[in-house]
Amino acid sequence: MKVVTVGAGVAAAEFVETLRAEGFRGEIVMISAEGFPPYSPCVMPFFLAGDPLETAYWKGADFYDRLGVTPRLGDPVVEVEDGRVRTASGAVEPFDRLLYAPGAADRYPEPAWLEVHGVFGFKTLTDLTAIDRHIREGRVRRAVVFGGGFIGTDAALALRHRGLEVTVVHRNNRLLSRMTDEDGGKFATRLLARRTGIDVRLETVVTAVNARDGALASVDLSDGTRIETPLLVVATGVAPNSGPLIGGDRGVEVDEALRFDPRIYAAGDVALTPHAVDGVPGLYALFPNAVAQARTAARHLVRGEGAYPGSVNANVLRKHVDFPVVSAGRFEGEPVTWQDDRRFRRVYLKDGRINGYLLVGDMAAAGYLHRLYLERAAAEREVPGLISDTTGTSYYRRAVGLV
Ligand SMILES: Cc1cc2nc3c(=O)[nH]c(=O)nc-3n(C[C@H](O)[C@H](O)[C@H](O)COP(=O)(O)OP(=O)(O)OC[C@H]3O[C@@H](n4cnc5c(N)ncnc54)[C@H](O)[C@@H]3O)c2cc1C
Repeated sequence: MKVVTVGAGVAAAEFVETLRAEGFRGEIVMISAEGFPPYSPCVMPFFLAGDPLETAYWKGADFYDRLGVTPRLGDPVVEVEDGRVRTASGAVEPFDRLLYAPGAADRYPEPAWLEVHGVFGFKTLTDLTAIDRHIREGRVRRAVVFGGGFIGTDAALALRHRGLEVTVVHRNNRLLSRMTDEDGGKFATRLLARRTGIDVRLETVVTAVNARDGALASVDLSDGTRIETPLLVVATGVAPNSGPLIGGDRGVEVDEALRFDPRIYAAGDVALTPHAVDGVPGLYALFPNAVAQARTAARHLVRGEGAYPGSVNANVLRKHVDFPVVSAGRFEGEPVTWQDDRRFRRVYLKDGRINGYLLVGDMAAAGYLHRLYLERAAAEREVPGLISDTTGTSYYRRAVGLV
């Protein structure tokens, strides 16, 4: 049996490793739009902040050799049809089974901006190696990041850590708006601006980029100001790369074994999966979900059985900061809040169970809260004590039944 993967990222690499661990000895071909060994986008910001490039190759730079894989790199798949994939160069690769895992792609408000030297996305290692080169060659000291969601904030923190002056321009009234509620997000934004020195411009967008001799000189903002900068990172949203399989970017629907059809599995940021707690289908584009989906698909391919238990929208921002921002679930229900000047903790209760939680400043409570959340445990009586604990021990004492 011949297995092909579309993509060589987190889901595809985990899928291949699990196939081999499960005893699959057949031919494996991995096709990627980029020219790297499998890398983890989660780790890329450390490279930009100064760590070696190899840090991003979280399964090792020798992955293809070690796993006995034929890589076809730098040639994106453009079509999947009748048991074969076709790439941009016209190459055709037949398969018996396919893992479709090309992730997601940046959505740019103005794609033409990218033609200006000094404007980049922040989604792929191709983007980050180009930013790194631009900073080194241009001795860049200043950057603007457009978009203050998870990826934009990750970008701003990495650039700041590298020593650049950074401005984040964000449409919403707080950074990390999708992984926070309004109060917690504003608390996190204040903390971030104060502790990192990043200049945050809220309820503002970039309206124009201005070039001199083809190179970025400045950006104009919707509040009428202009910022001189040789570097603009655009992180205003992503969309799943489902085009080559289904002809649109709405994500790929799969069954409980992650199958799109009897021969094709889909996993990672491109797959529409049910939420593990409330069952709502969605694009839960996070590393642990991609890994769990890939393992389920690979085991199903080898054993013919197994079901995916569902995804969780658990976000953790803690790269380049000592004040993590952690959240999961839905911010709906009755809020129970505790805060001091460094920490904000809020749990949303619904029918006495945790429906969502948000922690800013420390994450000592995160493990236990997350377990209660996943187990849908009755937690109404426990939550106020849990989130107001400042010793950092009561979670464990409660967890083992000492309190
Ligand atoms: C900057 C950044 C930071 C992140 N940080 C975190 C974090 O801290 N925690 C967390 O849980 N998640 C994080 N994520 C999200 C996480 O990286 C993704 O959920 C995960 O990588 C999804 O795996 P995937 O295999 O679906 O996609 P990817 O790992 O992105 O891999 C997709 C691969 O497919 C290739 N490809 C694309 N199109 C084609 C095509 N047409 N043909 C062939 N190959 C193609 C791409 O080149 C890429 O290598 C982060 C993402 C980014 C961008």
